[in-house]
Amino acid sequence: MPASPRFDNSYARLPGVFYRRQLPIPVAAPAYIAVNQALAEELGIDGQWLASDQGLAVMAGNAVPDGAEPLAMAYGGHQFGQWVPQLGDGRAVLLGEVIDRDGVRRDLHLKGAGQTHFSRGGDGRSSIGPVVREYLASEAMAALGISTTRALAAVSTGQSVERNQPEPGGILCRVATSHVRVGTFEYFARNDRSDEVRVLADHVIARNYPDLHAHANPYAGLLEQVIERTASLVASWMLVGFIHGVMNTDNTSIVGETIDFGPFGFLDEFAPDTAYSYIDRRGRYAYNQQPAIAQWNLARLAECLLPLLDENAAAALEKANALLGRFRDTFEGRFHAGLIAKIGLAEQRAGDIELAMSLLDGMAQQRADMTLTFRRLGELASNDYEGDGPVRDLFDQPETFDTWARNWRQRLQTEARDNRQRRAAMHAVNPAFILRNHLAQQAVDAAIEKLDFQPMQRLVQVLASPYDDQPDNAGLAMPPASDERVTTTFCGT
Ligand code: AMP
Ligand code: MG
Repeated sequence: MPASPRFDNSYARLPGVFYRRQLPIPVAAPAYIAVNQALAEELGIDGQWLASDQGLAVMAGNAVPDGAEPLAMAYGGHQFGQWVPQLGDGRAVLLGEVIDRDGVRRDLHLKGAGQTHFSRGGDGRSSIGPVVREYLASEAMAALGISTTRALAAVSTGQSVERNQPEPGGILCRVATSHVRVGTFEYFARNDRSDEVRVLADHVIARNYPDLHAHANPYAGLLEQVIERTASLVASWMLVGFIHGVMNTDNTSIVGETIDFGPFGFLDEFAPDTAYSYIDRRGRYAYNQQPAIAQWNLARLAECLLPLLDENAAAALEKANALLGRFRDTFEGRFHAGLIAKIGLAEQRAGDIELAMSLLDGMAQQRADMTLTFRRLGELASNDYEGDGPVRDLFDQPETFDTWARNWRQRLQTEARDNRQRRAAMHAVNPAFILRNHLAQQAVDAAIEKLDFQPMQRLVQVLASPYDDQPDNAGLAMPPASDERVTTTFCGT
């Protein structure tokens, strides 16, 4: 008899102001779109149970397993810079927490599970389009080695949701090491509930940052760690051309995981001012704005924690500013180290960052495909430019690349690694496959129009090994043809 998951729900033990108890609302005719057996195993969840009718019923919100204590979390947030005092889980419930095989506490969260106290007029549901997108994106990011929430299962509900037109409904089971956001802190801090800010901070420290118990001021330690993780996260996004698209404070995780895949996108051509989201016409959350926005969001977190940093307000402010001031260095350190690795240098020397940045500048001017440029660069020999065609052809004016490559090769002369070693190292950091926007769109279109999940499944499989050459799937490594190009992405909840 397959066993249902064992829950231990720390968030449900917090005071009632943190959430509303909320059962998921059953759906008509659930069916699996995708089940992530590898993740189930990691979570210590019985794969047979998950695949069974019982498992499906739980993933659809039609059954609540023993030990689960479903709730909708309260939070607020700054959306596009504007303070919104109450957001909260409007279309999702936290089913409960499980302890994974590494002893890490993980949330199981059903997104699209019906209306809650926080729905604010929304239907609490999701179309399968965003469910497919989030499943693909979270698993693709994880395989790239980027900190992210995960997708345990995607379900079609057998009910339609009214968007611009009726669309089939879906539910995603999202897994996170915390669903606490910067906006959760703001919800209490901005409503003068400083006791709750402390309770929340203590909860986060106990659950996600237990080492901080030894810190002289655990709350300062918390801020420091969140800044560090977020700076690293944004650097890792930018090294693969990821644009989150809606970096509101309610979508900024307290554990530095990528969360809330809505109108996200991946760069094809390296155009750093790109913003795909239809709700971001001014480019607030454009690719190259992400570090500044992350820092802004962290400043909002710092404000919430001020009373905990020091009894003296001026001293608290000084501490917060000192920590926030480190964001840039951390971000740049990670981003630059990543770039150095992407161009195949084993160590960072004077002039290397300029060398890497000048490649990016050239790519931006010449609209070279970001992923292909770096991936193909790994194939080039340090001592022979005969084979440069596949890279130089990505540039409108290939001479731009030739000039850069001369400097690059000169620098490679001083490296100890041979071509083969360098190629292996570069291929381990320069993916061949990313979730290109047009591929995500094709998977979504097939899902919505024909309930055909084959294109999605194929992407799931290919993107699970993004750093491997997969000759049979070479087409999925390519940028879109002009008629496949996706220039706008949607939340389309
Ligand atoms: P998001 O764009 O996913 O960050 O969502 C922002 C806020 O809107 C959150 O509080 C969501 O719970 C809420 N929300 C989004 N879509 C819906 C929906 N269909 N029904 C109710 N609330 C929603
Ligand atoms: Mg959100």
